[in-house]
Amino acid sequence: MNIHEYQAKQLLKQYGVAVPPGEPCTTVAEARAISEKLFNAGQKLLVIKSQIHAGGRGKGTFTHGFQGGVKLAKTLDEAVHIAENMLGKTLVTKQTGPDGRVVSTILVAGAEKIKREFYLAVLLDRANSRPLIMASTEGGVDIEEVAEKTPEKIVKEWVDPAVGLQAFQARKIASALGLKGDLFNQACKLIAGVYKTWWECDAAMVEINPLAICETPEGKETIVCVDAKIGLDDNALYRHKDILAMRDLAEESPLEVEASKFSLNYIKLDGNIACLVNGAGLAMSTMDIIQHFGGSPANFLDVGGGASKEQVTAAFKIILTDPSVKGILVNIFGGIMDCNVIATGIVEAVKETGLTLPLVVRLEGNNVKAGQQTLATSGLTLITGDTMADAAQKVVKAVG
Ligand code: GDP
Ligand code: MG
Repeated sequence: MNIHEYQAKQLLKQYGVAVPPGEPCTTVAEARAISEKLFNAGQKLLVIKSQIHAGGRGKGTFTHGFQGGVKLAKTLDEAVHIAENMLGKTLVTKQTGPDGRVVSTILVAGAEKIKREFYLAVLLDRANSRPLIMASTEGGVDIEEVAEKTPEKIVKEWVDPAVGLQAFQARKIASALGLKGDLFNQACKLIAGVYKTWWECDAAMVEINPLAICETPEGKETIVCVDAKIGLDDNALYRHKDILAMRDLAEESPLEVEASKFSLNYIKLDGNIACLVNGAGLAMSTMDIIQHFGGSPANFLDVGGGASKEQVTAAFKIILTDPSVKGILVNIFGGIMDCNVIATGIVEAVKETGLTLPLVVRLEGNNVKAGQQTLATSGLTLITGDTMADAAQKVVKAVG
């Protein structure tokens, strides 16, 4: 699960990481009030930031022509004008795709003068089974480009998860960023806080780009997180109710959201043969065999080990909302699963959705006889497959 920048900054702040003062809002009136408050508190410059789950906002364009999803404002009128042009409007960036995303929340924050921009991230290095901290002096820009063209400009520090981040490691990173004196100490504290956020929130990734040296109106240099992105490990969300509450369903694919309500594992793909399978391994081999016989899967859908009739019906409905689906292959191996439950679910779903597309069903295992009986007496025109290969060939042929 991903969260918005303003939410990421709230978490970071809880772990003692320096972030600029600011508040999120959803209306122009609120944006005006927050801007007023910040100007009154002595801020000379504000930054108004579109909150969407995609990067590249700074260089993005709104579909009504307004340039930039991250804008600076020197006056209250300017701030209000920007808020009006962001809220409810669609922002297109390199990461959103051509359809863009509707901005329903903006972050209004104090903008200090940025003197230098760095990159800092914590993620899990699966190859080394360790948390990895990456930092670079080349922040603010596309880090992918830095990694490709000048990989030596990215420093890496692996953390032993048993002992956690050591002070010397934070110092090593701060020193590699060329920091000295007070900024060096601030950076060490900040790096430790960012790592702690990653660890304690069970994050998959925490990325600060840019991490910036800013100059306060009094001329003091500080190091702060100007942008923040956090991705969480979904499997650990059950122990972070407060973070789970940050979920923004509007930012997720509607079909995947619907699937998660029924605990179905659904991922949309580009083909035209929908699959409904139990177990991730069988789902993967089903996609492979469809491909092997010249077809192309429209989705990955794992209904789990012990799916109910309701889940099967929901799964059918989700599959059918995808207009590119031209045929369906149900491949069930009844281990824990009762084949008759699946068969009953299929019959109900077909009747309820008025399915007209070719449907190939292959059932095997626990209570398969009763399942086949249910299908045979249902009065529906469906194709049965004896083996996986047989079923795959039949569905590929039916789709044409
Ligand atoms: P992104 O484009 O989605 O990564 O959004 P960012 O939050 O990184 O903003 C893009 C760029 O806008 C940053 O790299 C900064 O150069 C600039 N920017 C963002 N926030 C501030 C700020 O508080 N002050 C100043 N001066 N510039 C900012
Ligand atoms: Mg950024």
